[in-house]
Amino acid sequence: MEKFEINILGCGSAVPTMRHGTSAQLVNIHEKLFLVDCGEGTQTQIWKSGIRVTNMNHIFISHAHGDHFFGLVPFVSSLTLMLSRTDDLHLWVPFDLEEPLRHDFQHYCQLSFKLIIHPFDTSRKTLLYEDKEMKVETIPLSHGIPCCGFLFCEKPKLPVLLPDKCRAYGIPQRELGKIKNGAGWMMEDGTVIPNSELTTPSDFMPRRYAYCSDTAYNPQMIPQIEGVNLLYHEATFISADEMLAVKYAHSTAAQAATIARDANVEKLAIGHYSLRYNDEKPLLAEAKTIFPNTEACQEGMTISL
Ligand SMILES: [Zn+2]
Repeated sequence: MEKFEINILGCGSAVPTMRHGTSAQLVNIHEKLFLVDCGEGTQTQIWKSGIRVTNMNHIFISHAHGDHFFGLVPFVSSLTLMLSRTDDLHLWVPFDLEEPLRHDFQHYCQLSFKLIIHPFDTSRKTLLYEDKEMKVETIPLSHGIPCCGFLFCEKPKLPVLLPDKCRAYGIPQRELGKIKNGAGWMMEDGTVIPNSELTTPSDFMPRRYAYCSDTAYNPQMIPQIEGVNLLYHEATFISADEMLAVKYAHSTAAQAATIARDANVEKLAIGHYSLRYNDEKPLLAEAKTIFPNTEACQEGMTISL
């Protein structure tokens, strides 16, 4: 199976500590890398991890809170200093981050590559990136300021040709591409052989990953993330501190697990832990009572789909 994995670079909230870095993940889909959020210290985590970021051409930022983007300008700058990068780099940011980031890159960085900034509206579902294998769209979230998550989706694979059938009907090699793309075949006497007789559906099951941080309890996201293979959902607080979650538009571990359960996801990964806890076990235990297939993220962890 082709690679689809998430590398956790930072899963704490607010400020980097000895226990946790701030939000950042690398998503690897078929060896294409996507950076999601870039809190302070992200580049240190990347260099430490040994992951090569030469094939990372897109960065997605969820919102304009510093713990999700304060590492961005230094990291992008280092792509020149460390790697002498020349390939274009695409940066996808909410509208309110566009101008400040353009200012910083213009004034403080001399990049060896073209940085293309794509601002977007976080309030509605938007397709940001698409190629023949996959796509990335936004997930509107509820966090007091413009904020969204990201949904990474593999696309279904084309049907598989049945070579014996194609040969039996005398279909020339040069026509097989059209058959693979869904066409039927017309015989010399005008008889049409339907595509279903020449191909069999691929047994490939496209996988999906949803990144949802930061957000208050937000059941509106459920239809969009229904049945995903993996949901990363912030779980900043335990339920005993639910008033804080409400005040700061964050979620409790129980709320994250409720979203996972109600959306019928396969697996839940929690993170964005508040600084007030020295241990994630109570957060994990709370989530597991509602959604047993939950994992508590740690820096350096890789989750495969
Ligand atoms: Zn935030």
